Amino acid sequence: MGDFPLTITSIMRHVTELFPDREVVTYTGDGFTRQSYGELVRDAARLANALRGLGVTGDQRIATFMWNNASHLAAYLAVPSMGAVLHTLNIRLYPEQLTYIANHAEDDVLLVDATLIPLLAPILPQLKTVRHVIVVGEGSIDGPQVHDYRTLLDAADTSFDWPELDEGSAAAMCYTSGTTGGPKGVVYSHRSAYLHSMSVCTANAMGLTAGDRVLPIVPMFHANAWGLPYASLMAGASLVMPDRFLQAEHLVRIIAEERPTVSGAVPTLWNDILRYARTHPTELGSLRLVACGGSAVPASLMRALQEEFGVRIAHAWGMTETSPLATVAPLEDHWDLRVTQGRLLAGVEGRIVGDGDTVLPADGEAVGELEVRGPWVTSEYYLDPDSDRFHDGWLRTGDVGRLDAGYVTLTDRAKDVIKSGGEWISSVELENLLMSHPAVVEAAVIGVPDERWGERPLACVVLDGVVSAAELREFLEDKVAKWQLPDQWAFVEEVPKTSVGKFAKRTLRAMAAEGELS
Ligand code: ADP
Repeated sequence: MGDFPLTITSIMRHVTELFPDREVVTYTGDGFTRQSYGELVRDAARLANALRGLGVTGDQRIATFMWNNASHLAAYLAVPSMGAVLHTLNIRLYPEQLTYIANHAEDDVLLVDATLIPLLAPILPQLKTVRHVIVVGEGSIDGPQVHDYRTLLDAADTSFDWPELDEGSAAAMCYTSGTTGGPKGVVYSHRSAYLHSMSVCTANAMGLTAGDRVLPIVPMFHANAWGLPYASLMAGASLVMPDRFLQAEHLVRIIAEERPTVSGAVPTLWNDILRYARTHPTELGSLRLVACGGSAVPASLMRALQEEFGVRIAHAWGMTETSPLATVAPLEDHWDLRVTQGRLLAGVEGRIVGDGDTVLPADGEAVGELEVRGPWVTSEYYLDPDSDRFHDGWLRTGDVGRLDAGYVTLTDRAKDVIKSGGEWISSVELENLLMSHPAVVEAAVIGVPDERWGERPLACVVLDGVVSAAELREFLEDKVAKWQLPDQWAFVEEVPKTSVGKFAKRTLRAMAAEGELS
């Protein structure tokens, strides 16, 4: 067989030749702008020419500080295909984290959406390696050399001599948002991005086709929007981008008007959409599959969206380190399996490892740390060769759970497990049960120090209605063992979230230690 390199450039060529009439639609808050993929590819060539003109000749890191929109998509194509490396910055990180990440990656040029200038401006002086800033949209910023995106592109040629690239070369990079420790860089190769895209397109994953319209709500700075942009381009599916409008009322309007067939977002967002849809006239019927993950999806949320609105959630699991898609729970499965984190995709291998690094049986019983490996699973962190997260070629995921015939069930993150009297209590299980109570909007359970038991569960609950701690305890009583019932309760306005919308348990533990949750 031909030794044909798997590159993003070849995805772009495929789109150019087969799907120039498909489109990327960007929501503007009061309407939509449309760009055909033919025009998108021409913009990518213009951007590559403009970057060459700014001295980008090798594998420099080109950072983006952007929402999900057509210009970001052009950068997704242009930057890797010209041989440079696309570095998507998570706009929601703290200024110190962003500064650390951009300096660690040695970002050379930075593209910023004008609407995000207020977030970037305070840190830009600390970004030591950034030579040029390109502003997309109306706005200006004080900085090294600042350019207007459209002016640059208008002056650039619409064709570019795309180089032949080695499939093993770096295409993109992303830092983990640091729920566990400091930010660490993950570098995706052209090959890994290509194979991951093919996997996303398989029917066991999302089954994308040229008939789909895909709405990535998950940000393009969060593990490449779960690979949806490249996979959609590969499949010839159109893309619908929400830009900065991530509130339920906007998303519901986008869905009603642009009729996407596939979407992806974290559970907290679908929870928002569900609650909005219950009180407003809503048309969500175009969606045939919604990928949901990033944290465990409560079964109650899956059922409610399906039964009340016909929207079927495919529970998925992955990490920045795994590109990110590694498992998907097939929609045709029974609920017992649909509520698991899903089934390993072909190419990704998993195993459960117990104390002393012993490999445990994949029998649906043994609980331990999940380890994975595969062609789109990273084998090291950027400029951090000594990380203890790798074990004989496997990635230690930090997630704890069981494996059964390829189905992964996670009970916790290793550091969120509650250890009570030598036994483990699954915070995720308690949260899911609590969130199935009609008066509970959100529930996060953490372990708090206890003299007798080591740790005991504390439940932080957001209510919509009136219910007491005693009543919630009673609600759980026939569902979990008695010793697992939370014995401390805090009713809060909102559960604090991480930069990617997960329950911020580190913050909650700190609040508990300060006595703020009693
Ligand atoms: P961070 O590590 O900063 O949270 P990632 O987005 O890479 O950033 O998160 C990966 C982690 O998210 C996984 O290790 C796992 O703990 C959690 N996660 C992802 N999907 C799921 C899921 N479906 N169920 C439970 N946890 C999940």
